[in-house]
Amino acid sequence: MAICNRRRWAAVLALTAFAASMAQAQEPPCGSGAQSAICFGAIEVPDDQHATFSLAARQTVDAVHSREFAEDLRDFAARYRADGDHAAAWAGVDPVATIAALQAGVPGQKVATYGGLRGWFLKTFFGNVAYDGSADGPILLNRAALPRSAPSIANTFAHEIAHRAGLRHPHSSRNLATARCEPPYVIGTLVEKHAAGPDWRPDSDDCHLLRS
Ligand SMILES: [Zn+2]
Repeated sequence: MAICNRRRWAAVLALTAFAASMAQAQEPPCGSGAQSAICFGAIEVPDDQHATFSLAARQTVDAVHSREFAEDLRDFAARYRADGDHAAAWAGVDPVATIAALQAGVPGQKVATYGGLRGWFLKTFFGNVAYDGSADGPILLNRAALPRSAPSIANTFAHEIAHRAGLRHPHSSRNLATARCEPPYVIGTLVEKHAAGPDWRPDSDDCHLLRS
């Protein structure tokens, strides 16, 4: 997920400020402002990744509670619900109920990683960067796909929380380009968009409908 230099510097500055605020604590990360009481569960990741993951958790909380994310999701569902290859996956998706389900999935959400030979194998041959794990266990991110930027990790958190809310991408084994326009991928991309800020642009990993 390439980012331009301006975005990279903005990300470095945000991460530096955030890391300073987290310096003395490894407490579960929470949203900012009005969302400060909404917190993930334990983030058990390698020490050098902890600040990035905590910032990503905060960005996820903030995004799924934002008006802009709600509007983007509503607009996407309205435009593509009845149209083409994506219609089946979006047909039963009510944006208001989906956002409520995403918000309900955040509090106490734990995060951990997997790696080793299995992580390398799944990344190399299947492109796996994460999976949603057991129903109440941690979301599991593949260490073979790290490090990544906080907005990119926020994308993954939202994608996996969307799975736990019952959303699926039925085309992922047959047509990844179509799957990327199905709910968990689009939700992840829209969270990344809001986490990254106004300079965000979709890339080749994102639904082509967001690039038009
Ligand atoms: Zn998925």
